[in-house]
This record gives sequence, C-alpha cells and structure tokens, in this order.
Amino acid sequence: MAQMTVAAALGEQTPDHWSHHLADTMTAGRGLCDERLSAMVCEEGPFRIRELDAWKVGWARDGDKIAQVQAPGHDRPRCVYVDVLATGPAVSRTLRTQLNLAQEIRRIGDLVIVDIVVSDGRACGAVGIHVPSGEIVTIASKSVVIATGGLTRLYRRNSASSNMGGDGYALALRAGAELVDMEFVQFFPIGHLAPRLVGMDPIMWDPFRYKLGGQLLNSNFEAFEDGYASTDARSDGTYVLTRDQATYAITKEVEAGRGSPAGGAYLSFQHIPDSELRRAFGPIIDRLAANGIDLTRQPVEVAPIAHYHMGGVRVSPNLETNVAGLFACGEAIGGANGANRLSGNALTEAFVFGANAGKSAARAAKGLGHAWSGKAANPTVELLRSARPVDGPNLAREVVDLQAIMADKVGPFRTDEKLRAALARLEQMTIELGVVPRASKGGFDTVLLDWLDLRNMLMVARSVATPALARTESRGAHQREDYPSLLDHWTFNQVLALKGDTLTIERAVPFSSRGAA
Ligand SMILES: Cc1cc2nc3c(=O)[nH]c(=O)nc-3n(C[C@H](O)[C@H](O)[C@H](O)COP(=O)(O)OP(=O)(O)OC[C@H]3O[C@@H](n4cnc5c(N)ncnc54)[C@H](O)[C@@H]3O)c2cc1C
Repeated sequence: MAQMTVAAALGEQTPDHWSHHLADTMTAGRGLCDERLSAMVCEEGPFRIRELDAWKVGWARDGDKIAQVQAPGHDRPRCVYVDVLATGPAVSRTLRTQLNLAQEIRRIGDLVIVDIVVSDGRACGAVGIHVPSGEIVTIASKSVVIATGGLTRLYRRNSASSNMGGDGYALALRAGAELVDMEFVQFFPIGHLAPRLVGMDPIMWDPFRYKLGGQLLNSNFEAFEDGYASTDARSDGTYVLTRDQATYAITKEVEAGRGSPAGGAYLSFQHIPDSELRRAFGPIIDRLAANGIDLTRQPVEVAPIAHYHMGGVRVSPNLETNVAGLFACGEAIGGANGANRLSGNALTEAFVFGANAGKSAARAAKGLGHAWSGKAANPTVELLRSARPVDGPNLAREVVDLQAIMADKVGPFRTDEKLRAALARLEQMTIELGVVPRASKGGFDTVLLDWLDLRNMLMVARSVATPALARTESRGAHQREDYPSLLDHWTFNQVLALKGDTLTIERAVPFSSRGAA
C-alpha cells in the first residue's frame, strides 16, 4: 500500500552520509530512539536500496543517478521511489520474486497465526488456523520471527489494510516478550476522507499540497491554517503548519462545528491553474478522474488518520526479544523511531530489520535440535477446539466500537479523563468478550476470526492507552492536552509486559552512544 518514498543516504544526487540521516531520525524521535536500532536502519539502508536496485525494483532515475527527493524532516533530498506512486507494489513484487527463487523456503498461505508456542523459555513454533478450511495448524520451528506490521486498524480512520489490528503485539505479550513505546501512534493530518478513492494511497495528498500549496478550508470555505500557525511557517507561505499542528487545527475546526460533511476539512487545489496541476500530478490526474475527482472543480475532504506505529516489540540489536528464539522486525518492533517517525523510514526499517532478523533467527536455529512441545501448544489448540456458536454482541460491531473509543479517547490529543474512560470501557469489553471463542464452524469462519481479532485488538488497545495515561507530558506523536509540554524528566521509554492478565509498565533509559539520555 505504500506508494511513496523510502529514505536512505545514497548520496546519488546530493552528497550524503548515513550519519546525517541518523541525526534527522534521532531529532524526530525526541530523545526516545534506541540509537543502535536507528543507526542500523540509516547505515544499512543504502545497501538494501542498492540490493533492490540490482533485483530490478525500478527506482526512479534522473539520468544515470537514482532520483532522491526531499521529504519533511530530512536535511536534504534523501528519499527514493518508484514512479508513479508505485513504490510499495514494486518492492513487494521484487521481494516475492526473490522469495520464489529460494527453493529452501517453504511458503504457507491463508494462515492466521493465533499464538507463538514457548517451551522452557524458548520459542519453538506457532499455532494458527488455515482460514479456508478452518483447520488448526501447528508449526514447529527452531526460531520464530514476528513480522506482522502495525496496529492502525485500532482507529476509526486509518490507512491500514484490514489485518493491521496489532496481532504481533498480542502474540508477543502472550509469549512473554516485552513491548516498548506503545503510546506513540503517528497520525497523518490529511488522510483522504471523501469522495470515494479506490486503488490509491490515502496519504497521497501530502507531497502535492507541499509542492502546490493546496489550501485547507473549513465548512465555510475559509482557510484556517493561519489561525493555528506558530513560528514554523515557511517563508514561501506554501506550508504553514507542521503535521501535528495541522492535525490539531483540523480536529479543532471539526469540534467547533466547522468540519466538512464527512467530518474533516476541505483540501482545495482549485486556485491552481489546470496546466500546473497536470504538470505536478502527472498521470495521477487520470487516476483521480477514474475516481470521479476533478481537482479544478472540487476540493476533496481530508482528516487526520492513524498511519503508523512507532512502538512495538522490544528487541536487542540482533532483533531478538527477551524470549529466546523469538525475533521481530519491521513496523512490529519499537525503538528505531522513538516518539515520531520521519517519512520514508518505515520501508527502510522493514528492509533492514527484515534481513537482520532473518539472519539472527537462522544463526540461532543452526545446530539446535527440534524443541517442539505439543504440551506447550495445547492451551491454544484447546482454546480453538472449544470455539462454538454462542449468542453475544455482534463482533464486527464491537470492533467498530473499539475503533471509536480509540479515535475519540486515545487519538492524537489525549487527556487523563479520556484515557481513563477508554481503559474502563476496554476492560469492560474484554470481560464481555469472555474466554471461550465464538465460532460458526467450518471454513472461512468469520465469527471465529472476528473473535480472535477482537481479543488481540482489545489487548493491544490497552497496551496503547495504559502507557499513554502514565506519560504525563507531550512528546512527538503523544500529545496530552492536560500536559502540553515536553518534560526532560520523561526522557525514557515505557516497557510493557503481561503478568497474568495485568499489563505492567517499567521505565527504561533510551540507549544512546553518548551514555544515559
Ligand atoms: C497507505 C500506506 C502508505 C505508506 N507509505 C509509506 C511510504 O511512502 N514510505 C514508508 O517508508 N512507509 C510507508 N508506509 C508504512 C510502511 O508501508 C509500513 O511500515 C511497512 O510496510 C511495514 O512493513 P512490515 O513488513 O513490517 O509489515 P506489513 O507490510 O504490514 O506486513 C505484515 C504482514 O503480516 C500479516 N499478518 C498480520 N497478522 C498476522 C497473523 N496473525 N497471522 C499471519 N499473518 C499476519 C499481514 O497480513 C501482513 O501481510 C505506508 C503505510 C501505509 C498503510
């Protein structure tokens, strides 16, 4: 789904060094990055980009150089891409091709992993469901890598695919692993809201607004950005608000009853001549036309949407969790981006951490005998076997309720009162869900899948709200209306673990090469 850019200090067109990329990443992370992980992304990113280039991913070129564009927060043009808005699909296709060339890799599709199996403190496999047949599947493995992506489906408006409810975090917690920085969810201020937009990235508007000076308007068609602007205004006047300020401004306009019909703001390019629009948007104008959108005649509606999660599974520099043999990578891990992520860093971290977690997992597996334990897998197998049709609230409706709670009370702007109310409701919903899975039985059992999704989503939602309540300051993506300042004495990470049914929090000093932060 990622259609835009990947950050790496290639220095193809503008001299660059990974240390500059690291400096920008650490600045964005507002003191909470694990510098070892951030440095790994920045130092190894260029190698992974060139590796993908050799595999013919098709990075856009300017002459014989890989083209690199400027993105917010980077000190120079550093972001590569595949034209036009094709980065994600091109990367996925390229990686799939390489995967298919590796005969040693056995692929199993249509599987939802329900739990990781841990025996004698070591991960030794997983239990899942084969979705089409409904069969319970056990997998024995000497190492396990969690690569399940983020959690933005917890929110009403999000850029996620339907399977991004944060499964990996719940799997990790139940396996005994720790999570870190879970309170930091990145909201993208101008996600697409209306009209319908099919087959296009919902965050695609940003570079065009940036380039062309698209105007944010309220329901009275008044430009409102200036009223919320701080000293961060650009001298050319094209981009008045930073992302967090734009999120705040749109949220406040909607709260004041000046939102657009779908509940956001208008984004208008109508003041820009047709020829200029066509030059800037290129073939995207035609894809918009296919969606019935003519930017010369109409504004679109945009709103803040949950887009990325900085927190995640806590790992050491070899991408291993505190559970032996259990590794994690990609958006599923926390640490590299601290309290906020720079654009383009998410794909770079997916490439770098994916490769390194794979290597570490292979090293750990080498020489090990099989440690599979049917006994350790039994509780999950029995849980799935116990699934049966029972009356209860509509589970899909419950997911929608959960998303509303998260959006309204654990969204971009939080308060003690809202967070406590959210946690109380989430705990109530957890009790109501019960411990016996509901099912309709048979293949494609959406009732069972919804029950398992909701179980994980409730746990993960609590894992976001709990540290958000504890962090009585505002930092990066965590903004507290009742504690609006960044406080130096809060420069530490919050580490979560599951003890019985209780989520515990401990504080940890972020790793820095300069010693304690
Ligand atoms: C619309 C959009 C645009 C973006 N644009 C950019 C961009 O321009 N640049 C950038 O750097 N980043 C961008 N990002 C972020 C970036 O795409 C993600 O951070 C990155 O793809 C994460 O990769 P991943 O491999 O960790 O996880 P994912 O790509 O999310 O893959 C996780 C996989 O795990 C599977 N899974 C989850 N749970 C289970 C389970 N229980 N059992 C089995 N499988 C499971 C999912 O089906 C999925 O296939 C964008 C994200 C979105 C949503």
